[in-house]
Amino acid sequence: MISRLKHFLGFQQDDGDKEEIFLRLYESVRRQHLVLHLLIIAFEVFMLFLISSKDGGPFLKPRRTAYFILYLLLIAVTCAVTLIQDRLLHTDPKNYRRYFITEHIYIALLCLWSTALTLNDQLGGNGLSVYTYVAIISAAISLMEPWKSLLLYGGNFILLNALLPYFPWPNGLNQTFNNFTNSLFVAIIAFALANYFYKSQLRIKRDEIVIERQYKELQRANQTLSQEVMTDSLTQLHNRRYLRKVIAERFPGKERTACLMIDIDHFKLYNDRNGHLAGDRLLIDISEYLRGELRGRGADLVRYGGEEFIAFLYGEEALAANQTAEKIRRDVESLRCAPSAGEEKHITVSIGLHHKEPHEQMTMKEIILRADEALYRAKEGGRNRIVCSSAASLTGTDNLS
Ligand code: GH3
Ligand code: MG
Ligand code: MG
Repeated sequence: MISRLKHFLGFQQDDGDKEEIFLRLYESVRRQHLVLHLLIIAFEVFMLFLISSKDGGPFLKPRRTAYFILYLLLIAVTCAVTLIQDRLLHTDPKNYRRYFITEHIYIALLCLWSTALTLNDQLGGNGLSVYTYVAIISAAISLMEPWKSLLLYGGNFILLNALLPYFPWPNGLNQTFNNFTNSLFVAIIAFALANYFYKSQLRIKRDEIVIERQYKELQRANQTLSQEVMTDSLTQLHNRRYLRKVIAERFPGKERTACLMIDIDHFKLYNDRNGHLAGDRLLIDISEYLRGELRGRGADLVRYGGEEFIAFLYGEEALAANQTAEKIRRDVESLRCAPSAGEEKHITVSIGLHHKEPHEQMTMKEIILRADEALYRAKEGGRNRIVCSSAASLTGTDNLS
């Protein structure tokens, strides 16, 4: 029961995101508060002007003088609080605690001011209008913990009713009961409103945080998922989906591009003789070797099929691409690429190569097709060789064109 009451009055905050929530609240209400301060200053300056332009000036009667002083006082306090808050903002922009303390003190002073003005109003036979609108406006914007608003509106109500008998209406009219019931109603409404706005703003900020957090998690999960979807699980190289979705999208048009289609020779036989697991191990070794070989060259490497790989080299001369292909062929042959295969197991690759010159307009698909044709020739020609489908070639490799 006590814990519920504490919770209701805002003494207990079972919120792990309290700091974040209040920081967001602070950032969203700062501007509203500033606008309100400026409006109050403008309105009170206008009232000062009105009262000063009345016949006899602002100091003709004590009641008028009291109004004049009250308007002036509110202008001075509002200016001071606004300047202090501006200072706070510049010295420590994230210090929401100090900001709310100054704003709550200001609102308490504003409510006291409304009580003083209302008492002065009584002498002229005016009602509780200033007390009422200040209570309602402050309740809507204060964002006070409920215990503070209970103290504020309760205290202000008691103060007003304690002092009202000393400020009688003109002509001996007794308004005590009317004033009591009306100001009680206003105090209750103000407390309920302040409570409602405070809690709903807190809920909105909390929901914002949760939604942002979930959105980030979703984005992260999406990223991981799309990475996984585009990665071959055995070799950790990119797969065909990556080729289609990413490489094809940004495929260079005017750049020199070499496509190497690398296929392990007689891999089926290797699997049959050494087992599928050994075959897997070999695929992993060759993938790692190719990745290392192409590292730092801005190249793309993809596992195109079971034992087929595609490498794209960008901006390189035909000779350099041919030399790379030849190095790969030799390294595989001499087992420098696959230690797991063992000395006695003979492993070779055939490579089909197509080199596109900058002036040639070709799509990624067309280049792959040409490299595939070249690979076919390499297989036909006896395997463990490179066939180049484009004009440029290296001595020792076959040339299709
Ligand atoms: P060629 O020299 O003409 O390329 O002959 P090949 O045996 O290498 O080619 P073929 O297309 O006849 O066989 C490819 C083999 O690759 C068949 C398949 O079992 C094997 N393979 C495909 N994917 C995997 C894999 O992920 N792991 C293992 N261990 N073997 C695979
Ligand atoms: Mg093969
Ligand atoms: Mg094959």
